[in-house]
Amino acid sequence: MKCLNCGQDNKETANICKKCGRDLTLPPAWFPDWRWHVRTLAVIYTALIVLFFTAKFLLRRLPPPYDTRNIPSEMTPWLKYIANSGAESSRAAPASSDPYGTPNK
Ligand SMILES: [Zn+2]
Repeated sequence: MKCLNCGQDNKETANICKKCGRDLTLPPAWFPDWRWHVRTLAVIYTALIVLFFTAKFLLRRLPPPYDTRNIPSEMTPWLKYIANSGAESSRAAPASSDPYGTPNK
């Protein structure tokens, strides 16, 4: 009987390997092959993609206070600079030379 750990040939009646001492009465350990890895990763990625689109769909149906796409600009003054520097938007705050949108002096 060949030892599954070190490959040493042992007697068929041996209970432990004479070279490394592995218990030869134990069944061989199971190791995942590449098909198992591919299948497992496919299941994980599919679940994540489905979860992402489900969450995205459900979040879009929330009423206005929880709709993160329409947060009032007063609540996010730090976004004014980004909105003004990017493409023109209907919701963009008035142009200002003050990037941090500090209140009137
Ligand atoms: Zn061995």
